[in-house]
Amino acid sequence: MMNAPIRIAIHGGAGTMPKRLMTPEIEAACHDSLQLALQAGYSAMAKGGTAVDGVEAAVRALENAPMFNAGKGSVFTNKGQHEMDASIMNGETLDCGAVAGVSNIKNPVTLARCVMDNSEHVLLLNDGAEEFARLHNIVFEDDDYFFTQLRYDQWQKAMKKKITVLDHVDDKKFGTVGAVAIDAKGNLAAATSTGGMTNKLYGRVGDSPLIGSGTYANNASVAVSCTGHGEFFIRQVVAYDLHCLMTYKGMGLEEAANHIVHDKLKPIEAEGGLIAIDAKGNICLPFNTPGMYRGWMKSEADYFTGIY
Ligand code: ASP
Repeated sequence: MMNAPIRIAIHGGAGTMPKRLMTPEIEAACHDSLQLALQAGYSAMAKGGTAVDGVEAAVRALENAPMFNAGKGSVFTNKGQHEMDASIMNGETLDCGAVAGVSNIKNPVTLARCVMDNSEHVLLLNDGAEEFARLHNIVFEDDDYFFTQLRYDQWQKAMKKKITVLDHVDDKKFGTVGAVAIDAKGNLAAATSTGGMTNKLYGRVGDSPLIGSGTYANNASVAVSCTGHGEFFIRQVVAYDLHCLMTYKGMGLEEAANHIVHDKLKPIEAEGGLIAIDAKGNICLPFNTPGMYRGWMKSEADYFTGIY
């Protein structure tokens, strides 16, 4: 199919700042960053790029925005470090790439794409992924680049209270970024990138780099990127479950996505949400948390960004 309508949807995580702590300035900055990311992804495809180019461009923009927990702005582990996870998937070919536990990589989604494009593997871990990054001239940044006062204060608070991230009530403990898109040829793609959860154990890997859990794309059904408490999303194989409900059970996107987020995840207290786009370009952005940074763009003039 040629010249199908280009569409993109993004999220900046389901761990939004509580409404009572949100200021008009922060809220405006979040909307601006979401809009910039939508624009980056949309224009990559409008210029002839693929859905993979679109989701990579949108996720890079979100990784570069310090208010989201991915790339710059990533949360701290229990050892005071940043360990990032990312993945990307091409719905036309089912090719995919991912990295987990990487440090000092400016744009982990680009490294995930590099794994997809330049290796026979799907998932590379920490030192090995970083060695691969150096071989492929991926951009590194020093620790200072990844430091943000907000994330540092959240980590200090979590440590002082000796709370595990799971008890973290004030500042939600998760946050991730992701994008799903359909390009002019009707191909789908999805990408997800995260710093994980505040005060997470050194070495912990969430759902974001796991194809089928946090990310999945298949032209036959849907492209999906998840955000939320990763351990539950891994157990429920959320992203692939959406594909399965649509493919094997014949559910529509809206029905299947809402069923997963509200009927399957919510009862087991699995907080989070997902963004998804189907092969017809329908978009669905359900979440069971108080908010989810999110947005979509259907044309330069037709777009939406939301938080709560
Ligand atoms: N799912 C991510 C993780 O568990 C966090 C998030 O989405 O906010 O690492």
